[in-house]
Amino acid sequence: MPYPFEILSPKKAELEIFKSKLPHVCSSIQELFRTMSVSYRSIEQRNMFGNYGGLRRDNGFETALNLTWVAMLNDHLIGTDADTSEFIDKLRLICLKWYHFGNSLDSCLFFGYFFYLFYSQSKFIVRDQIKDLKMLIDNANNTTHDSEIKALLKPSHSKSWYQTEFGIGDKLSNIFIVNGDLVKVELPLPGYQITFNKTLQYDLRAPNFLSREHIELPQKNDGKVIISCPKCGQRCRGKIFSELEMTCPKCAQTWTQRI
Ligand SMILES: [Zn+2]
Repeated sequence: MPYPFEILSPKKAELEIFKSKLPHVCSSIQELFRTMSVSYRSIEQRNMFGNYGGLRRDNGFETALNLTWVAMLNDHLIGTDADTSEFIDKLRLICLKWYHFGNSLDSCLFFGYFFYLFYSQSKFIVRDQIKDLKMLIDNANNTTHDSEIKALLKPSHSKSWYQTEFGIGDKLSNIFIVNGDLVKVELPLPGYQITFNKTLQYDLRAPNFLSREHIELPQKNDGKVIISCPKCGQRCRGKIFSELEMTCPKCAQTWTQRI
C-alpha cells in the first residue's frame, strides 16, 4: 500500500526556485536525507531482531538536523523567535517538497518515525538544539516574504477538520487520520497529537498536532446534518450520507467529507 503523501508532482521550475532562493537549505537537506535514509535502514534491521522502537542517536542524523536548522535560519525561512513546533512543521514542508523532487522515500519514513511516532522525544531533542542556536544567531523575526518561496512551501493541509466515529479528516484535502493514530491531549492546548501509532502509514502532509478548535463534530438530527463551510464558516445543512459533497449556499465553496 503506498503512503498517502507519495503521489509525485515534480515541477522543474519549483526545483530551480528551491535551489536559487534557499541555497543553504538546498545543500543541508541532502545530508539530512542521506542520514535519515541510513537511520531508517537501521530501524528495519532492529526489527529483524525483534527490538523495534527507540531512537537511534547516531548515524550523523542529529548533526545533519542541527545544520538544517542553521540553514533554515540563514535562508530566513524561520526566525529565532519561532517555537519548536514551528521549526518542525517548516522542516516537514521542506522534506515533503524535497521528496517530491524525486528523493528517498526511506528518509521520509524516518521523518515520520522520528517526528510523529516519537514526538515527545524528538521535540525534546529539537528544543535543545534550537535553544543553543538562538544564542548564536540573531535574526529574530527576520523571515522572508518572498511570494515564490511562500508558494513553494504552502501549507499541505487546511485548518478545517471534521470528526467522525472513525477518526479526523481535513475538509479541503483527502487527509484522514484514524482514531488509533491519534492521541488526545488536554494540556497545554486541547487537541490531538498525530502519532500514526496504529497504522504506521505516515502521512507527511498532516501536522504533528491538531488543535481542537480546528475540528468540527457534525451535528446530526433527523437524517440531516449541519456542517460549517471551511471558507466562510456558514452553517450548511445536508442529507446524511457516509460521504457528503457540500456546496456552501453563501460563498459557493465546495468540499467533501465523511460523516
Ligand atoms: Zn462558504
